[in-house]
Amino acid sequence: MSSVTKLIASAPPAPQRVVVKLGTGVLTTGIGQLDTARIAAVCAEIASLRARGTEIIVVSSGAVGLGMGSLGLLKKPKQIAKKQACAAIGQSRLMQTWQAGFAPHGLTVAQVLLTHDDLRVRSRYLGVKETLRQLIAYGTIPIINENDTVSAAEIKFGDNDTLSAMVASLVEAQHLVILSTAPGLIDMKGTKQILPVVARITPEIEAMAGGTTDETATGGMISKITAAKLATKGGCGVFIASGSEPDILSRLFAGRGPGTFFVPSGLPMESKKRWLAYFQRPAGTITINERAVPILRDHGRSLLAVGVTGSSGEFAAGDIVNITGPDGTVFARGKSTFAAEEIPAIAEQQSAAVAALYPARKRLEVVHRNDLVLL
Ligand code: GLU
Repeated sequence: MSSVTKLIASAPPAPQRVVVKLGTGVLTTGIGQLDTARIAAVCAEIASLRARGTEIIVVSSGAVGLGMGSLGLLKKPKQIAKKQACAAIGQSRLMQTWQAGFAPHGLTVAQVLLTHDDLRVRSRYLGVKETLRQLIAYGTIPIINENDTVSAAEIKFGDNDTLSAMVASLVEAQHLVILSTAPGLIDMKGTKQILPVVARITPEIEAMAGGTTDETATGGMISKITAAKLATKGGCGVFIASGSEPDILSRLFAGRGPGTFFVPSGLPMESKKRWLAYFQRPAGTITINERAVPILRDHGRSLLAVGVTGSSGEFAAGDIVNITGPDGTVFARGKSTFAAEEIPAIAEQQSAAVAALYPARKRLEVVHRNDLVLL
């Protein structure tokens, strides 16, 4: 065996599908100043992974920051319309940059702009999934960003860390790599160094994350940990690492750091349950009694009318709701068969009048087990 063949044989297998998220701070040097050398290096690395057979989807921030640069703004505007205008100006510059970065490698990029509704509504979610599959099959590099220009508060992801975790779940990526100016999660309790591996995201791990203070950044470590939680539940391993490290992707995939790796859940949730659990904004809450909690939690059964004690919020039949026990802790989420205004009658079903009106109601499924997921 020649030494090159030996080298290839000993190299770790390239991952099959990966989502790489790049923060504004990685792509720029100052406000609106593109770091062309770094972008060229990232494109070269992605191209070489692509050549080894890894499918790559990029989630790129930077639209607002580049727009700010074009307008000469030094502070991120507070007004939504101004931020949306910045994004509209910056997004085209962002795509030109990516296309220019990949062109020397013979790769074509594809712009995909999403709002939260595009992934919340099941038919649109499936449509996006199919389009991404096709873009990969055409050999292009999808470059995804939030469609900031049309994203009002209620249809916003809020930050690209969350968006990247949703995309990783959607395309069933093996790894999600979140590259930013943060080198990883710092162990605030013990060593004060970067934690190399997080086996489970506990409240203690969450407490180690702080917010962001950067002018163009959005989420900080908190949103990265939230993203890691979402992606790992779907069986995707998550790396948080510095985007300024050379050859960072290959080093991470070879298990040679530097950064923090979040171990994927051994029993990943199935795709539809992930969509139910993490892609929704529940319209209300259904409260259930003490007896019903273990029936749902431990036995995976449907929520029957007999377990329901009340509800809050406005929801229609078919909407996604949170489910809480008597102590108010949300432990499940699911699709309600009934609208909020029908819940009081269901909760009071023991009363003679209601029982007479709806004799079979006790056994009715308020949330069917196929549409129910534990959080
Ligand atoms: N979508 C925003 C942008 O392109 C970035 C949001 C984020 O970085 O989390 O500027």
